[in-house]
Amino acid sequence: MKKFDLHPDLRNQLLQHTFEKLEEYYEHTDELEVLPHLNFEAIVKKARNVDFNTPLPPKKAIDLVIDGLRKYTLHSPHPKCFGLFVPRAAYPAVLADLITSIINPQLASWFHAAYAIEVERYLLLEFGQKFGYSASTIDGIFTSGGNEANLTSVLAALNHRFPSFAENGLIGISKQPIIYCSAEAHHSVIKAAKATGLGFSSVRKIEVKNDLKMDIRILRTSIEQDIAAGKQPLMIVGTAGTTGAGVIDDFQALKQIADEFKLWFHIDAAYGGAAALSPQLKPFLKGIEHSDSITFDAHKWISMPMGISMFITSKPNILKQTFSVRTTYVPNGTDEHPKVEPYAYSIQWSRRFMGLKLYLSLLIVGWEGFTEMINHQSNMGHYLRKKLRDNGWLIKNRSDLPVICFTDPAFESDDQFCTTVVQNIVASGRSWLSTYPIKKHLCIRTCISNYLTVAHDIDALIDELNEERKRYSAIHSKETSSLV
Ligand SMILES: *Cc1c(COP(=O)(O)O)cnc(C)c1O
Repeated sequence: MKKFDLHPDLRNQLLQHTFEKLEEYYEHTDELEVLPHLNFEAIVKKARNVDFNTPLPPKKAIDLVIDGLRKYTLHSPHPKCFGLFVPRAAYPAVLADLITSIINPQLASWFHAAYAIEVERYLLLEFGQKFGYSASTIDGIFTSGGNEANLTSVLAALNHRFPSFAENGLIGISKQPIIYCSAEAHHSVIKAAKATGLGFSSVRKIEVKNDLKMDIRILRTSIEQDIAAGKQPLMIVGTAGTTGAGVIDDFQALKQIADEFKLWFHIDAAYGGAAALSPQLKPFLKGIEHSDSITFDAHKWISMPMGISMFITSKPNILKQTFSVRTTYVPNGTDEHPKVEPYAYSIQWSRRFMGLKLYLSLLIVGWEGFTEMINHQSNMGHYLRKKLRDNGWLIKNRSDLPVICFTDPAFESDDQFCTTVVQNIVASGRSWLSTYPIKKHLCIRTCISNYLTVAHDIDALIDELNEERKRYSAIHSKETSSLV
């Protein structure tokens, strides 16, 4: 079946060909429309107008798929994609993904992938310490994304609170466990409640204050009401960098409440956790070191290609307690070799060597490179805020991270304004940005999620925004005058 290997000469040619095509994309992403026009019928046709009974010459097949992706994808590697945390992929990580695919280690069991597993364990130890955990208590596992990491946190909390949970499940629990998170928390908390069998009625989305941080007073009242109603408060999920407005909850206050009521304290730092790599931003995560567990997505702010996320915990026995199973078809640890079996710490069994992208990137650019990247994006965020204010825009969120939500003061309560401005800019292909509701009214939401974004890109965005505002104002004032 050499057919699947392809001939060595052909492999060389195809690698070269693919590399050239991708190099063109990677080097000139900024010349593409950020979001190309999406014609549903054309896209379906493009995907289906092939015949697996008549194989294509390999070069043609490669060109076909790259063309489909170029034409019909939101180009997050574009410096003017001011989007939802989806980054440009750091190149060392791209190479790592290729290496991983060829060697294809299976990270379920230490004996099958000893080096790969030790690389990942080292990364978890390093990142755990960046978050302020003490080295001796750190445990964790790489996950496919923040969703799996947050699901893992709910399972960890259940197993921590109910030592017989692994054996008896929810049936063995007499009181309904309750999860507390902010109204601005990511929807994966709801999904985790659904997936664990708790159901979404077990999630209390606590109202936020004016600064969009979880309201501690309401949290306390809610916990007390649940206790009085015979429920079992289980865990608090704080967010480091909310998806909508980039807000960081008050972790010190949350920790106090968690201690008082003996709750598991998880922090969803999927996006904002990257601040731990910057001495100037790290203080904003104050209190994260006192959490029981953390979700951190490497495929967001620190620019790893999807999917690579981490669940890190300061409770070193909880993953094993949660996931440990016995199998007869894998070798067991001996006294000579460690008994670290990742499958016994994770939802996954067959597991890709996702940690290599981060490890190789760190080897090549170092912590210093990552710090520089985070600081640059943070500075671009400040620059964008300043330019917006200088141009008469009103900033509606207070974020310590480069997430900026704004509107025009004249159209503050006119949702159609933000929708129209965003739609027109996105349709033009010049930039990508979105809308987000803050206190009942839509804002324009931007995030610096690309390390290539520079002042020049932001100046261009400001021009686009000003132009669309002018256009909307002209139509709007005509409408009002015709009403008079
Ligand atoms: C993106 C995000 C998630 C979900 O993570 P995935 O890696 O997309 O599964 C969870 N929480 C927050 C705050 C996020 O921004």
